[in-house]
Amino acid sequence: MSRIFSGIQPSGALHIGNYLGAVKNWADLQHKYESFFCIVDYHAITVPYDPDDLRARTTDMALSLLAAGLDPAKCTLFVQSAVPEHTELAWIFNTLTPLGELERQTQFKEKASKEESVPAGLLNYPVLQAADILLYRAELVPVGEDQVQHLELSREISRKWNARFSPAKVFFPEPKPLLTPTRRVMGLDGQAKMSKSLGNTVELLEDPVSIWEKLKPAVTDPKRVRRTDPGTPEVCNIYHLHKAFSPPATVEHVAVQCRTAGWGCIDCKKVLHESMERELAPIRARAKEIAGNPAKMKKDLAAGAEHARSIASETMGEVKKKMGLT
Ligand code: ATP
Ligand code: MG
Repeated sequence: MSRIFSGIQPSGALHIGNYLGAVKNWADLQHKYESFFCIVDYHAITVPYDPDDLRARTTDMALSLLAAGLDPAKCTLFVQSAVPEHTELAWIFNTLTPLGELERQTQFKEKASKEESVPAGLLNYPVLQAADILLYRAELVPVGEDQVQHLELSREISRKWNARFSPAKVFFPEPKPLLTPTRRVMGLDGQAKMSKSLGNTVELLEDPVSIWEKLKPAVTDPKRVRRTDPGTPEVCNIYHLHKAFSPPATVEHVAVQCRTAGWGCIDCKKVLHESMERELAPIRARAKEIAGNPAKMKKDLAAGAEHARSIASETMGEVKKKMGLT
């Protein structure tokens, strides 16, 4: 069975962009692949943070992932800092990664532009990401579109390491992205991709009243100024969310109502809110159940880390041997 790996930062609450672009897919894929899913706290400390917050966000992230359908009996779910081999392999990969490649990464440029002083960890973020994946010699990485560039770099690092230290036999695979039809969910402001760090999200576990308060002012087709103006669904973020949450017949109906100005944007948002509720209410209910048994969640994460470490230490053993390290 092929192996897959993917990670999510505990940099805020899991949102519907993470869910539609990656996590919902993880819940399906865990039945088809040997799956490793990681809460990447070492990645989250590359921007300013508070330690108590990070601890709480890591627990909340585990809860959200389990509520979204990850099953510790089917996949390996763990916290990155519980498996020190991630940073060990990252150091090794740092010695092979061209500086220029790191400097041209879009995520680095975006995140660095917001910091007064840019830590080297932010630049080296994709190197740690390559280590995360290759430690498990994973072939497929289910992610959102924003991570495709980082994965190209992971492939380059893999090729470089193989060429230098294992030329006779490929040791690390070249990991490929697995994308969903909703690979890039825009924020409700319509300005940028939905991101934990941008405050433009709908959280997976958010209560329906609060979701509605966010949907009401959400950006739609900018050319549809008056209620009577016909709209263009394809340019509307709300329409794209319908495609993710509403059944096909509703999506078709929504498009017609928009194009003919049959509905106003608020009517359209009400229907979206109902569709979202159908998908999100059971997830919230599951989260409540899981939150009632924190000892089980802790145990599941510890077992996940133990299994991850067994494979990670095996990989590191071979890597060190091939590199002349002790
Ligand atoms: P941050 O703002 O801290 O970077 P984030 O919201 O971008 O947080 P990550 O933890 O960086 O979330 O990414 C977790 C997974 O979610 C990745 O696979 C990423 O590609 C995916 N993802 C993130 N944002 C979106 C989005 N708007 N649409 C689709 N997928 C997304
Ligand atoms: Mg991100």
